[in-house]
Amino acid sequence: MVKHIFVTGGVVSSLGKGLTSAAIGLILERRGLTVSLQKLDPYINVDPGTMSPFQHGEVYVTDDGAETDLDLGHYERYTHAKLTQSSNFTTGKIYSTVIAKERRGDYLGRTVQVIPHITDAIKEAIHEGAAEGADVAITEIGGTVGDIESLPFLEAVRQFALERPKGDVLFLHVTLLPYLRASGELKTKPTQQSVGKLREIGIQPDILVCRTEQPMTQEMAQKISMFCNVRPEAVVEERDVAYSIYEVPVDLCRLGLDKLVVAHLGFESDTETDLDDWSLMLAELKSVEKTCEIAVVGKYIQLHDAYKSIYESLAHAGYANRCKVKLRKISAEDVLVKGTEILAGVDGVLVPGGFGERGIEGKIQAIRWAREQDLPFFGICLGMQCAVIEYARHELGLEGAHTLEHSPHSPHPVISLMADQREIDQKGGTMRLGAYDCELDPGTRIHELYGCTRISERHRHRFEFNNDYRDQFAASTMVLSGRNPGRDLVEIIEIPEHPFFIGVQFHPEFKSRPLNPHPIFKGFVGAALAHANGNNPAPVCETVL
Ligand code: GLN
Repeated sequence: MVKHIFVTGGVVSSLGKGLTSAAIGLILERRGLTVSLQKLDPYINVDPGTMSPFQHGEVYVTDDGAETDLDLGHYERYTHAKLTQSSNFTTGKIYSTVIAKERRGDYLGRTVQVIPHITDAIKEAIHEGAAEGADVAITEIGGTVGDIESLPFLEAVRQFALERPKGDVLFLHVTLLPYLRASGELKTKPTQQSVGKLREIGIQPDILVCRTEQPMTQEMAQKISMFCNVRPEAVVEERDVAYSIYEVPVDLCRLGLDKLVVAHLGFESDTETDLDDWSLMLAELKSVEKTCEIAVVGKYIQLHDAYKSIYESLAHAGYANRCKVKLRKISAEDVLVKGTEILAGVDGVLVPGGFGERGIEGKIQAIRWAREQDLPFFGICLGMQCAVIEYARHELGLEGAHTLEHSPHSPHPVISLMADQREIDQKGGTMRLGAYDCELDPGTRIHELYGCTRISERHRHRFEFNNDYRDQFAASTMVLSGRNPGRDLVEIIEIPEHPFFIGVQFHPEFKSRPLNPHPIFKGFVGAALAHANGNNPAPVCETVL
C-alpha cells in the first residue's frame, strides 16, 4: 500500500516547498523506492493556464496536456515520477467536480458542504494523484498555513491521515527562520506560531525543514523541538544554496533527512542514499571555467519564474558542455527602444514562448540581428513564430507578414490559427496541449541533434505555421525540418547555412533534466560556446554528455 508524505509551508510563501518536495522524491528514488508527486493549489482558478506569468510564473505542461503549476517542473527534473492531469488540483478544479456532481443529482436530498463533500473530493484527488505502483506519494500543499484558502486542504489531509494506519503518513512542514541582521540572530517565533496553527487544525508535523540563510545551531533546534513538539533530530536545517538548486537533496541527506523519512514510513533505513552522480555533477559544476552568454529576449524577463524551465534547461546544457551559461535577460520592448546594441557581446539569442502583442516587434528585430550576425538562435513556440515572420518579411519579401494572433488583416498571415481552434470561444484548457509526435527530416540539423527521426514533445499554442506559404519557404534557405505526421503541421524550422538557427513550435524545456539535458538546448549552448571561443580563441570545448 502506498505511503503518503504531505508537505506544508509556514511563515511566508516562496520558501521552496516545491524544491524540497522534489528533493525528497529524488532521495527516495535513490533508495530504490518509486515515488509519485502531486501539488494541491488553494487558488480558485481551475488551472494556472489563464493566469499571467507575472501572477503565477511559468505554466508547466505535462505529456497528457495538463496546464500546471511550475513546481511540477521541479518534480519532473528531480525524479522519474510520471505527472498527469491528476498531479495538480486547485480549489477551482475540486469545486468544479463537486458542483457538476450536485447538478447531476449525485447528492439528491442533501446539503452540499465543505466538510464532508469538498474534503472528500480532495481526498479522492490525493488517491488519484498517487500513481499506481508508487511506494510513496508526495503531496505538496500550496500556500501558507494560516491562509483561509488552504483550510479545506489541511482539513482533508488531517482526515486522510486518520483513515490510514499509523506510520503510513508523514507530515513535513517547511518553515522559515528569519535572520535579523541588526541583532545578528535567527528567530524561531514565526515557526512556533505556524506550527501552532497547524496543530490547531489537528496536524502535528513529524519533521520540520527550516529554511535559513544562516546556520541553525543545535540549541536553536532544541528550542524549536520543545515549542513545536517535534523530536530534536527531526528539526532539519535547509540553508540557502550557494550556486545551484541541485545542491538541496545532497544537503538534506547530509543532515539525515533521508533516514528520518524512510524510518518514519517503515522502510529500510540502514543503507545510504546513492547520490554519487548528483554530487559529481555539483563538484564539476563548481569547477567549470568556460562561459558563454545567452540573451533571453522575452516579455516577462523581470520575473525569473516566468521562464523557469528554460533557464533550468540552459543550465543543464551548460553542464553538458562543461561551461557556465551566463544569462542576459532582455525585455523585448527594450530592443525596439534601445536598439540591438543591447544584444552586443552575447553568444546566442533565445526567444521564448508568449502571448499578446507587447514586445513582438522587439523579438523580431532581435531574431533578424542574430540571423544576420551569424549568432546562434533558438526560438521556442512564439519565438519560432516570430522567426518565421522575420524571415518572411526580410528574406521572402512578404511585406506586412505577421501572425493572425496580432494582425487579423495581415496581407501575409504566415502564422495562422489552427483549423480546430476557429470555433473555440472558451479560453481555459482549449489550446493544443500536451505531447504530440513529430517527424524529422533525415540529414537536417535537428535530426543530427536528436539522433532519430521520430520525437515526441509538449505543446501549448493555438497558432501554427500557415501551410499556404510552404512552397515559398521550401524554395528559400529556411528548411521546414519537422512535421506532425497526422495533421501535417510544421513544428520545426532551421537555416542549415547558419551556425545555429532553429525554431520549434513545441516546448522542449519541459523535457530537459540535469543529467539528461535536452538535445536542442545542448546543441544551442554548444554553438554559443563555440561562438564565445571564436571571440576568445580558446580550444573548442567538447560536448561530454
Ligand atoms: N501565442 C502563440 C500561440 O498561441 C504562442 C504560444 C506560446 O508561445 N506558448 O500560438
